[in-house]
Amino acid sequence: MSDLGPSPLAANDEKLSVAQARAAIAARLQPIAGDEEVPLVQALGRVLAADVISPIDVPAHDNSAVDGYAFDGAALRADAALELRAAGTVMAGDASPITVQPGHCVRIMTGAVMPAGADTVVPLELCQVLNEGAQVRIEPRVLKPGENRRRRGEDLKRDHPALRSGRLLRPADLGLIASLGIEQVRVKRRLRVALFSTGNEICTLGEALRPGCVYDSNRFSLMGALQRLGMEVVDLGLVRDDPQALQAALQQASVQQADAVLTSGGVSAGDADYTRDVLAQLGEVAFWKIAMRPGRPFAFGALGGTDKPLWMFALPGNPVAALVTFYVFARDALIALAGATPEPLPVLQARCATAIRKRPGRTEFQRAIVAPAVGGGFEVRLTGSQGAGILRSMSEANALLVLGHEQGSVAAGELVDVWLFDGLV
Ligand code: AMP
Ligand code: MG
Repeated sequence: MSDLGPSPLAANDEKLSVAQARAAIAARLQPIAGDEEVPLVQALGRVLAADVISPIDVPAHDNSAVDGYAFDGAALRADAALELRAAGTVMAGDASPITVQPGHCVRIMTGAVMPAGADTVVPLELCQVLNEGAQVRIEPRVLKPGENRRRRGEDLKRDHPALRSGRLLRPADLGLIASLGIEQVRVKRRLRVALFSTGNEICTLGEALRPGCVYDSNRFSLMGALQRLGMEVVDLGLVRDDPQALQAALQQASVQQADAVLTSGGVSAGDADYTRDVLAQLGEVAFWKIAMRPGRPFAFGALGGTDKPLWMFALPGNPVAALVTFYVFARDALIALAGATPEPLPVLQARCATAIRKRPGRTEFQRAIVAPAVGGGFEVRLTGSQGAGILRSMSEANALLVLGHEQGSVAAGELVDVWLFDGLV
């Protein structure tokens, strides 16, 4: 049995704040074990399982940052132009550059190895080339000694960690690893997340819509959210509101070696007492009422043994509430389970286009569109109806407008926090 510790408010009706619930989840998680080696071309979005130690200095030599002339910067004078004799050329990739004699300079290309006797490069556009290329004149104070020289190892030093274990690999990281000549990386295995929807009124795609029913949308939005996080999805389909069916689905998640299981629906207080019973039989699960909107009670816990717990996130059924609680509680937790070092979500501040009524004591997540404002900065406005079942307004949104637990009503023009759905990388 995994020990969830004293679950602060599981036993009474008081609501947890979003921050309390997030902290309680984070405190209980244990990252999965297991890693594998993958080719660099398949490593995007994976989590490093070991530090990447640089086997070389990058760059491997001092080299020029510009196209120009390399020379000894000690010859520069603040009160007089410097005239140098141009002798020779160094191209990028030339292995044995010439030595620059005093009073001389060498034509050099970007990335070419700095010749011995030179520590400074004057860019072509900052000097005059005279006598058909035989002479170069540099006016006083156009550059300082040492300028435009890239130092050996200034990007990455040999035997130093270039990237740390736990790093979620982004495009620049792949380039960085490639710059070290490394073709394979050791990464954590992918997190396996089982997913099912619950509800007798939910129809599977392909089925004719029965009277009084709705199609299963949650499984598809949550699958998309999991795929965005680079996780392996074990799709367990649709499960009826029936204790045995629920138990069988959870067992199936274990059989399929899932690390976590995500469900939607059936956790509200009224309709799902059996859900609590089933989960209580299988492991330790805390049911929480959270002071947030949207979002009804949601359950978090661990099923099975401590050697390989099955982490459980039971999300509310309302399509918007399911996605919002996924972003607020499950996203960071799954990233941490996958072994990644948590990084705070960047929060944008934007001017609220309209006034919003709110009372302190709960966190509110509103679907919104954020866009550059006319006078600079960003403006955010709400997208249509904010009902917890209106998925269209979530689809139209590009961000969540977040009103904090203690925050009261917002006046038009006031700055508010915004969580963007999409970032640059
Ligand atoms: P529940 O949390 O099970 O009480 O469900 C709350 C609301 O969400 C009900 O209107 C359900 O019909 C709806 N709902 C539950 N699960 C889904 C689903 N997978 N797809 C679409 N709507 C759902
Ligand atoms: Mg239901």
